[in-house]
Order: sequence, then structure tokens, then C-alpha cells
Amino acid sequence: MGKFIDTHTHSQFSPDSKTTVRELLERARETGAAGIALTDHLDLDAPRNPGLFEFSIAAQQQAIAQAEREVFPGGECKVLRGIEIGLQPGESLQHSKDYISGHEFDQIIASIHFVDGEDPYYGNYYEGKDFRRAYSRVLELVYLTAKQFGDYDVIGHFDYVARYAPYDVKDIRYADFPDEMDSILKMLAQDGKALEINTKTYAMHGSHLQVLDEMILRRFKELGGEFITLGSDSHESERLCDKFPQFFQVCQRCGFPRLTYFERRKPVLYTP
Ligand SMILES: [Zn+2]
Ligand SMILES: [Zn+2]
Repeated sequence: MGKFIDTHTHSQFSPDSKTTVRELLERARETGAAGIALTDHLDLDAPRNPGLFEFSIAAQQQAIAQAEREVFPGGECKVLRGIEIGLQPGESLQHSKDYISGHEFDQIIASIHFVDGEDPYYGNYYEGKDFRRAYSRVLELVYLTAKQFGDYDVIGHFDYVARYAPYDVKDIRYADFPDEMDSILKMLAQDGKALEINTKTYAMHGSHLQVLDEMILRRFKELGGEFITLGSDSHESERLCDKFPQFFQVCQRCGFPRLTYFERRKPVLYTP
């Protein structure tokens, strides 16, 4: 296996993960990963649990620095300070800006976790909606909130809404949402930002294992997109770099021979 950089992981600073930063780094050492970004959840104004998805950025960065000194004293692995910010339209965007101001990051992921006050994880969001309506609203929000927020490097799991969907076929195909996808992909290409392939989405079991439509990557290339990150979205150390060789091949097929990570908010291309 090539040496990959996992750009999306969750540690004990995320309420839905118990894995320590140190355990994640030890796993990176065991598997010979080239790098890891710790991207804990910041979801202000969460509809069901306001205050649950918040953490002390200073404490997280301190834990990262300490674990890095202990596990990689010779700097054998890139250890990157990240955050995954859940965006919602309206004044919540400013709350997130205020929360992160004064901190330095290597990489900021912008994600959509909540839609119009609903959490797709619980299923209510899909009630009374067919897949077209349910997905197009989310893709529209991915575009609008990222555009307005601006201060991010990567769009996280653009297809998150499909993960928990009740439809027989859950895949988000370019052919079904060409305008919505084009808005997102053009914005990323023009602003020099990255599209994430989130391998957790394609690892979830159910009646249909969701697939990534390669047309989306080909279209991104066509529109001038340069940067693709691979993220496991691992909440336990075992999934670090899960399925990366497989999705690196997909990238290569679609015109992206190199992958990207961010260091001090600048994209760096690398070959695993
Ligand atoms: Zn997420
Ligand atoms: Zn995540």
C-alpha cells in the first residue's frame, strides 16, 4: 500500500468518538501512513443538542502537539491540525467564524450535517421527500453556505445526505443533479479548494452500498478542479486510511494522478 495522508479523522474531542489523539497517531505509525489530520467536529447551533458538538480548539491542538512529540519524535509522519465545521445558513455562519478566530489550522473542512433544522442521521429529514428533493436541497446548501462562509479548504462528504437515506438506490449521480453539482465543482475549481472523497460514505452497510459516481470527478477535472483529498472520517483508529488504495485508483482514472493535503491552509499535491 502506498503511503497515504488521511485528511479527516475524529478523536476524543468529538462527542461521537472515544479514540484518543495518541491512539490515532499510534495507528498511523503502525500502518506507515504518511500523514494524518485531526478534524474534530464543530457544529454550533445543532438542532437537537446545542452545545454538544463543540470543543476547546486550544486543548485539541495541545493534545495533538503532545502526541506528535511522543509518537513521532523524528517527524516521521505529517501531523496536521484540522477542524470539521458543520455549516448552517444564517447567523450560525458568523458564530463559527467567531469560534475559530484566533486559532491557526492546517486544514478546515466545511460540511453540512443539519438541514433546515433536521439531522438526516435520524431519518426525519427524508419524510415526504423523494430523493431528488431531499438531495437537491442539501447540494444547494453545500454551495450556498460554503460560498458565504469562505474560510475553508475542503468540502467534506458532499454526499453525506445519502448515507442515511431510506431510498433503494442512494447514490448521488451527476446525471440527476448536474446544475447543483456544477455550482459546487465550479466554486471549488475557481477558489482553489478541494473536493473530499469521504470513504466512510462507501463503507456503510445496508441494503445498498453507496457508490461514488466517477462522472463527478471527471466533471470536476473538466471545470479546472485540481485538488482532491481522501478522508476516512474515522471515529475509531481501525478505519484510518480505509479504502484509500481503491479510491486513489478511481482518482487516477478520472484525471487526478496526485492527491492533496493542506498544510498551514495551503494545498500540497503528493503521490502516495
Ligand atoms: Zn461530517
Ligand atoms: Zn467527520
